[in-house]
Amino acid sequence: MSDPTPPRPIDLLGLVPDALVVELERHFGARGQKAFRARQVARWVYETDVRGFDEMTDLPTAEREALAATYVLGEPDADTVEVSDDGTAKHLWRLHDGELVESVLIPTEDRLTLCLSSQAGCAMGCTFCATGWSGFRRHLTAGEIVAQYRASRRWAAEHDYGPITNIVYMGMGEPLANRGAVHPSLTILNRGFGVGARRITVSTVGVVPGILELAKRPEQFKLAISLHSPVEALRRELIPLEKRWPLPELVEALKAFETAGGRRITFEYTMIRDVNDAPELAPLLADLAFDLHAFVNLIPFNPIPWQAWGPSTSERIRHFQSVLAQRGVDVAVREPRGRDIDAACGQLRANALVQIQE
Ligand code: SAH
Ligand code: SF4
Repeated sequence: MSDPTPPRPIDLLGLVPDALVVELERHFGARGQKAFRARQVARWVYETDVRGFDEMTDLPTAEREALAATYVLGEPDADTVEVSDDGTAKHLWRLHDGELVESVLIPTEDRLTLCLSSQAGCAMGCTFCATGWSGFRRHLTAGEIVAQYRASRRWAAEHDYGPITNIVYMGMGEPLANRGAVHPSLTILNRGFGVGARRITVSTVGVVPGILELAKRPEQFKLAISLHSPVEALRRELIPLEKRWPLPELVEALKAFETAGGRRITFEYTMIRDVNDAPELAPLLADLAFDLHAFVNLIPFNPIPWQAWGPSTSERIRHFQSVLAQRGVDVAVREPRGRDIDAACGQLRANALVQIQE
């Protein structure tokens, strides 16, 4: 009989901060080391971007070696990095099993937003999304989600991009379909790395139980809803998940989210020419957004090569914008970022950048 595959070493990036300290105190305790060593390592993990235990210079060499024998500091390999004319930087990360995911750094005047992936591929099959067409590969672990942040933080520091101020879960995958990893990743980014909860946005296509779960969290994480249509029948054509959790149920969940935390939600509305940009849809969208006090981002559709759909005309987009504004809804039109590096892999979702309303 062949040997079973050895267990993968524990990824320190995938542990929530309290668990990381407990785990390391146990580790150091068993080696006759003082408990403060655990906090020393935690500082290296969260406050620095060292690549490995050998760089943790305030630990004795034997302790660095012992850590390396038991743990990993999960780090994806950067397969490629593409930098757009507008400064948007897309990383394609190769995970330990060869899966590829992307994350995007989006610099604007006053912030640096990281858009990260929660799954390799996506099972939701939205008809306008390249990730949806490519199908589901696997969930990412909490450590693999957090590693995109840590590696991007290092890259940003090395390339004079400054600190990452905001995080959006808008890369590949549906975060609320991978809640087992996404919840701890939120805790790690917030409590470990110190990214304010109000600066972290989870984007979902409408996984109702996931929205309700997020509503229960005490932290003020933000929520963006990929709406794309204010009417059920059309939404069903764009988003298969609409059949499972139709709009009325989604709206109820959003009300619960708002009531629970007093947090404003954002609607993302990707405008596809002659698909979801009919003028008569604008007042319906406005009513929905008004009732929920939602902020609306209108995003020109980013064409995918094998599909005939194109972005709405700027007249149509402006029309939507003015109808929403006239009806008292806060609305912004988002220009796609990094178009010139929108390569074949996945879909550059930098266009979905949400300027979170503080
Ligand atoms: N699965 C989550 C988060 C990842 S998708 C979600 O759907 O919300 C991030 C955003 O990119 C979503 O708002 C999605 O609707 C949008 N998007 C996907 N394909 C797009 C395209 N071709 N053009 C413009 N936006 C797109
Ligand atoms: Fe998945 Fe979001 Fe793309 Fe839909 S839009 S297929 S949920 S990544």
